[in-house]
Amino acid sequence: MTVEATVFKGSSSGEIVQSTTTLETPKGSQVLVRTTHSGICGTDEHFKHRDMVLGHEGVGIVEQIGEGVVALSVGDVVGWGFTHKTCGRCEQCLRGQDNFCRAPGGEVYGRANLHQGSFGSHAVWDESFLFKVPAGVAPEHAAPLMCGGATVFEIMQTYVRPTDRVGIIGLGGLGHMAVQFFTKAGVDVVVFSGSEGKRAEALAMGANEFYATKGVQTFEGVKPLDHLVVTTNALPDWNPYLGLMKPKSSIYPLTAEWSNLVIPIMPIILGGMSIVGTVIASRANQKRMLEFAARHSIRPVIEEFKLDKNGVEEGMQKLPMSDREPPTREYLATSFDKSASAVRAYTDRFETAYARPALRKSTQYFEEVPITATFVAVFAAFAFVPVAVFIVFSLFSVLSIFFLALSTAFILSSTLLLFFTSLLLLTLCVAFFFALCTTLTLVSTYVGYRLVTLTKNRVGRPYPRRVVPVPRKLSEESESVVVVESEATDSETVKQESSD
Ligand SMILES: [Zn+2]
Ligand SMILES: [Zn+2]
Repeated sequence: MTVEATVFKGSSSGEIVQSTTTLETPKGSQVLVRTTHSGICGTDEHFKHRDMVLGHEGVGIVEQIGEGVVALSVGDVVGWGFTHKTCGRCEQCLRGQDNFCRAPGGEVYGRANLHQGSFGSHAVWDESFLFKVPAGVAPEHAAPLMCGGATVFEIMQTYVRPTDRVGIIGLGGLGHMAVQFFTKAGVDVVVFSGSEGKRAEALAMGANEFYATKGVQTFEGVKPLDHLVVTTNALPDWNPYLGLMKPKSSIYPLTAEWSNLVIPIMPIILGGMSIVGTVIASRANQKRMLEFAARHSIRPVIEEFKLDKNGVEEGMQKLPMSDREPPTREYLATSFDKSASAVRAYTDRFETAYARPALRKSTQYFEEVPITATFVAVFAAFAFVPVAVFIVFSLFSVLSIFFLALSTAFILSSTLLLFFTSLLLLTLCVAFFFALCTTLTLVSTYVGYRLVTLTKNRVGRPYPRRVVPVPRKLSEESESVVVVESEATDSETVKQESSD
């Protein structure tokens, strides 16, 4: 018996699209889960421009199980995260670091199972990556723990000791869960946040110290840190923090963005510091995380929306990076391709539609009209304006001085006439000289150019025959697009032929 699941997908425009997915009856170790809750994560934002079902922090109730399922039964409340299945055989899997399994057979969000996700009514998952949600954790709280909670718990469980002093930058989704987990584990937690606004919240969650970071160049009087967990959605200015790090301390940048990690190297070298990459948690730690959260009443601060199209859209709007572009690797590759071919298409179009015809026309013109006539034409064009101005001004001044002579003294008017005439003559000389120079430069440049092209190429052909490679369009229709140059005498020398 199949199940028609309602799902919410991304789209090229970034709009959330409601759709349906047919889910087969679970077989073997598969489990059909009716999704009751889903967290919304920054990672979903990265995928919302893709045609895939979104959501990877799901919680639901087991509705059907395959014949090989051993650990779950119908009615169990389960959660799942970014990883759907691992190969179980690679070195990472054997070491229990299955969150880093990249072997074939491994299935993760965004790469496999694109037809289903936690933004939907149902999904079928392998039982190996479904985790029973303990009774002490409400499903709405369990959902965000499955990804963000697991990520910060992994750091705590793998790298941090209870006697350590840990700085946490940011008190958002990841940060506030980190503060809760770390303080409950007995760690000395120091929170760094942009403004004073979150001081009370941080201290209430168990942080021992809080520092507002805006405009701070160096932190004065703050005891050094063993670890620094960066949970902000943009990487910080490292300098103030590097001054706070103990020798042999570690930095965990959890900021998932596609920019480069730029950090001063000398403090890292001299301090023997580590920069640690980490993502979600191994299965063992995922399980421990849920148990720990239940035991210590760790509750993510949540805002609830209905699990429908509007709710998903509204919820995603609340993500701090909702105005950013979605930079998955595939997306980056495609958009690079797209922009490169767009640029090539534009330059090609400019060349074929404007530049080459214009050049061809002017060449034709110069070939038809003798060079002396060309010279006179260009010179006349340049000299026309000063000549016209000269005539108008002369007329005007002669008339005005004549009028002056009638009314006043003769000597004064003669002097003025002389002055104006010489001034006008001078202006005319300058203008003519300028026109002559410009014309000479232009014409000699052209003659030089013609000389070079004629000696370089076969005589009688104004341009070498060439085939212009056309950028491959992204779709299949590109195969048939060829650009050839036809006869040089034809005014439309370049033809685009497409036969799709
Ligand atoms: Zn996530
Ligand atoms: Zn593996």
